[in-house]
Amino acid sequence: MQYVSTRGRADALDFEGATLAGLASDGGLYLPERWPTFTAEDLSAMRGLSYVETAVRVILPFVGDSLSEDELRDLCTQAYGRFAHAAVTPLVQLDHGHWLLELFHGPTLAFKDVALQLLGLLFEKFLSRRETHLTIIGATSGDTGSAAIDAVAGRAGIDIFMLHPAGRVSDVQRRQMTTVLAPNVHNIAIEGSFDDAQALVKRAFNDPDFSSRYDLSAVNSINWARLVAQVVYYIYAGVRLGAPDRSVAFAVPTGNFGDVFAGYVASRMGLPIERLVVATNVNDILHRALSEGDYSQGTVVPTATPSMDIQVSSNFERLLFDLNGRDGAALAEQMKGFEQTRAMRLTNAQRDGAAALFSSARIDADGMSRAMRWAYDAAGQIIDPHSAIGLAAAHTAAVDPSVPMVTLATAHPAKFRDAVERATGVRPGLPSRTGDLFGREERYVTLPATFEAVTYYIAGHAVKRGS
Ligand SMILES: *Cc1c(COP(=O)(O)O)cnc(C)c1O
Repeated sequence: MQYVSTRGRADALDFEGATLAGLASDGGLYLPERWPTFTAEDLSAMRGLSYVETAVRVILPFVGDSLSEDELRDLCTQAYGRFAHAAVTPLVQLDHGHWLLELFHGPTLAFKDVALQLLGLLFEKFLSRRETHLTIIGATSGDTGSAAIDAVAGRAGIDIFMLHPAGRVSDVQRRQMTTVLAPNVHNIAIEGSFDDAQALVKRAFNDPDFSSRYDLSAVNSINWARLVAQVVYYIYAGVRLGAPDRSVAFAVPTGNFGDVFAGYVASRMGLPIERLVVATNVNDILHRALSEGDYSQGTVVPTATPSMDIQVSSNFERLLFDLNGRDGAALAEQMKGFEQTRAMRLTNAQRDGAAALFSSARIDADGMSRAMRWAYDAAGQIIDPHSAIGLAAAHTAAVDPSVPMVTLATAHPAKFRDAVERATGVRPGLPSRTGDLFGREERYVTLPATFEAVTYYIAGHAVKRGS
């Protein structure tokens, strides 16, 4: 299986190459050259399978010669063995028609563990084959940083530098990063906002002098291997709710369009998905794009769902490419226009193609709180604010009531205890797998938000290319 860039100019790569590259050299994102498909018999045969065996069946067609089936099984067993629930991503029924798909049973309490636990192992495997080293640099508003650090801590061949805005992530989120004392983990608190941290990371990647000295990599959801790991739980849940004989609908709290794009892939692979409901908070660029064809960037408004406070959704490019006849030159032109004006119109093919599968809803703070209270009062479930945005959107969706509606629960409520307590009056406790998070030693440096300070620190701690 080869991977092609959405902008049509980068060389095709195999799975190993696309995983290590992350972003394509022409600025585009990698997609498989074609979608592997499952027949109805293939799906029926997955009914009794464990999560790990489902993962092997779903991911194997994508890896080509990069991994044998046994190697893939071994990595999935390790990655998902660290989850606190035997079903890895269990379904919980809320009423006759609604389910939650709980994706937060991993080590850092958010769904990003599902993808990053596997990605950390893939990096380690591919790097040891090539005898090379990787320096991961990232900025985080909370969830990605903790999940990425947990996934690569202590792994050979990798150093990780994670920038977070000092004082602007929750105590739980900070401690999940700073109490990891492995020597390859470097936490940097930036005296500034998340945007400042993000801008510093982008500048480091774009600085030819700095980036030529290290083998740099990113861990945000532009990495194809992250998305493929997320396709698994759509199929796992769909099959449990009656696929291929019955269709299923999913409501997905969305930021960077990675999670819901994995649902699109599951649909292209043959899972009968009736509808994918894209749920946004008031940062609603995706809702405007899907309902009106208007993809134009606004200013980010901070909300109780920080992981969805995004005004440019990187993975949307993958959908636009697939719906535009995979014309890389046309998409490169469209994206160039967006980069210049911060706005673009979807083409008719893109709008019609998206409308056939996606609908969307924009949920404000009231709608989010109402959904949290409904889940608690009607079903006895405490849910986190991000999942509540998804559930509120599921309730607005015009889907045949005989189709099961599954809301993706993307974070554990204890990760956002204050917001949950405000809405429900209940303060969720941390699960036992987080152990003595508040008793452990923390280690991080605080640096001013300047390029010189950050690159000087990284230069003092990173491994140089070729050494
Ligand atoms: C990252 C995140 C999201 C958004 O996922 P995308 O793949 O960026 O759309 C939603 N909820 C939580 C809790 C997250 O951490």
